[in-house]
Amino acid sequence: MKKIDCPSAAAPQGEAGRDGLSVFDIQRYCIHDGEGIRTTVFFKGCPLRCAWCHNPESQAGKPELLWNEERCTGCGACEAACLQKAVWGGCPEPDRSRCIACGACVQACLGSARQVAGIRYSPEELAAAVCRDRMFYEESGGGATLSGGEVLAAEPFPAVLELCRLLKEEGISVFIDTCGQAPFERFEQLLEVADCFLYDIKAMDSQKHRKWTGVGNELILQNLWKLHLNGARIRLRLPLVEGVNAEEEDILPVIGLLKKGLRAEKIHLLPYHDFGRSKAQRLGHVSQPSFQAPSREKLEGLAELFRGAGFPQVVIGG
Ligand code: SF4
Ligand code: SF4
Repeated sequence: MKKIDCPSAAAPQGEAGRDGLSVFDIQRYCIHDGEGIRTTVFFKGCPLRCAWCHNPESQAGKPELLWNEERCTGCGACEAACLQKAVWGGCPEPDRSRCIACGACVQACLGSARQVAGIRYSPEELAAAVCRDRMFYEESGGGATLSGGEVLAAEPFPAVLELCRLLKEEGISVFIDTCGQAPFERFEQLLEVADCFLYDIKAMDSQKHRKWTGVGNELILQNLWKLHLNGARIRLRLPLVEGVNAEEEDILPVIGLLKKGLRAEKIHLLPYHDFGRSKAQRLGHVSQPSFQAPSREKLEGLAELFRGAGFPQVVIGG
């Protein structure tokens, strides 16, 4: 195998339109995505449509343009730069029916009002970008977390496996952050190369799950059990939204899974935050409903339910 040049290899810039894995962000020094200090790679494309999604730019697999009206000076440089005529009539808001997210207007915009979410990387480029922070992983017990969107839905999937394999060869720990909605064959392939699964449960009631995410939870729960039976390390992550899934009746079935023997080394209660709302607006999506996080007192009460049932490994936050 070609040795990865690290830690000096620079993160590649990539180009919209070329082959590779579509990634919308690479965040360094993350401390809420698994053990130690981690670099989190956010893949584009997700099979769920959570109403509260905090990364709406992750949902579509293709690149998308974000336009931030607050930063726009109205200079018109984007209109001059756009060969697709997706900016026209003196209006800087992109015409989404024409925009191909080529990024030409991003280069032209001196106000940083425009941004393309979704750059294609080869597995080698991503591995090199992750390897840059090797020193922090070694000191903290950290590594890479592959997130999204949904990394198990990323295409081509063999490139995801190759990325994991490259990281393992470099001795870098790999955590997989997943919503669970994927064929189990993909999980099976990852079992060889992943150290731990950060596994989301949005709702235990399938109808409720479908109402808020667009998808029932049957496959998600099946995959969770299969991972458990295959000996995977699992950390459960429960995004909690007031009025959606933050009542005792929502939590008790999760405790029921643990009582049946599901092995979870940690249970994270993740209160809702509204980062996604402004991003949805910049993407030109239908505006997100206004949700609230459960109060701290309520979160403590829900955590206490786990502790009282004999599962002290519950934490509030990532
Ligand atoms: S990303 Fe490309 S196609 Fe879209 S508005 Fe900008 S220049 Fe035009
Ligand atoms: S180039 Fe940027 S600042 Fe100028 S009109 Fe376009 S979006 Fe606004």
